[in-house]
Amino acid sequence: MSIKKPAPPPAGTPRPRPAFPARLPSSGGPAPAPARPAPAAPVAGSAGTVPARAMLAAMVHKLQRQGLSHPAVIAAIGAVERHRFVDSALANQAYEDTSLPIGLGQTISKPNVVARMLELLCEGHTERLGRVLEIGTGGGYQAAVLSHLAREVYTMERLRGLHERARANLRHFRLPNVHLLFGDGMLGYPQGAPYAAIIAAAGGEAIPQAWVDQLAVGGRLVAPAQFGAGGQRLVVLDKTRTGVVQKVLEPVLFVPLKSGIS
Ligand code: SAH
Repeated sequence: MSIKKPAPPPAGTPRPRPAFPARLPSSGGPAPAPARPAPAAPVAGSAGTVPARAMLAAMVHKLQRQGLSHPAVIAAIGAVERHRFVDSALANQAYEDTSLPIGLGQTISKPNVVARMLELLCEGHTERLGRVLEIGTGGGYQAAVLSHLAREVYTMERLRGLHERARANLRHFRLPNVHLLFGDGMLGYPQGAPYAAIIAAAGGEAIPQAWVDQLAVGGRLVAPAQFGAGGQRLVVLDKTRTGVVQKVLEPVLFVPLKSGIS
């Protein structure tokens, strides 16, 4: 990995507590909630993981200052090292609030967009969600975060190259509750339905009916969709016993939802 490492301490010296990198804020907001520990990195020596952990903590801290407040979402984002999902040449940007290319013309969403969508997905829940369907696995970052919020995560990708990249990226995390699926997510994944929640990382002209059909009563769907000249907006759809309640929220910019596989 290409994140700058501090010089390793001489053998036998206790490892000092990591300082936040100077260019990242270290004060001025609420303290970050304690994150569940992520699995230890399987690399020789642990010194290389220290700055990444400090940058991850600073990223979570910043998301909290921007309004992220759901404790489980804070912990879940704090448990997943984002640099493991981007090309090593971009690893030093992995904790900035920016979307980054993940290959094949696709991008990993900005952390504050991931945080916003997951917070909407978990709104009103203090316990783990049940089965969740994610459309657009990409490199697998959001699926890894979701694995801490849901009992089972079904995540579908239409590009074989990215589906395989996600498998390679996620191997390190050993997440038995993440199920990687290759296929056209516009059709959903009826085998896992009904879902407590559905989340899409790609936006189409409308919310596919298959997703609404596969959502459980009491479930919530969060996805971008196109609103004519109004552009793409975030949509929250709640399925109730009496029907579907849809809220159209802020403008967003996601890659297009495409049909078929490639
Ligand atoms: N959640 C991802 C971000 C993925 S970007 C991450 O954390 O890295 C959106 C992804 O949606 C792209 O990889 C794109 O190929 C995929 N996508 C677009 N249309 C799709 C469809 N119909 N079915 C499944 N995946 C789709």
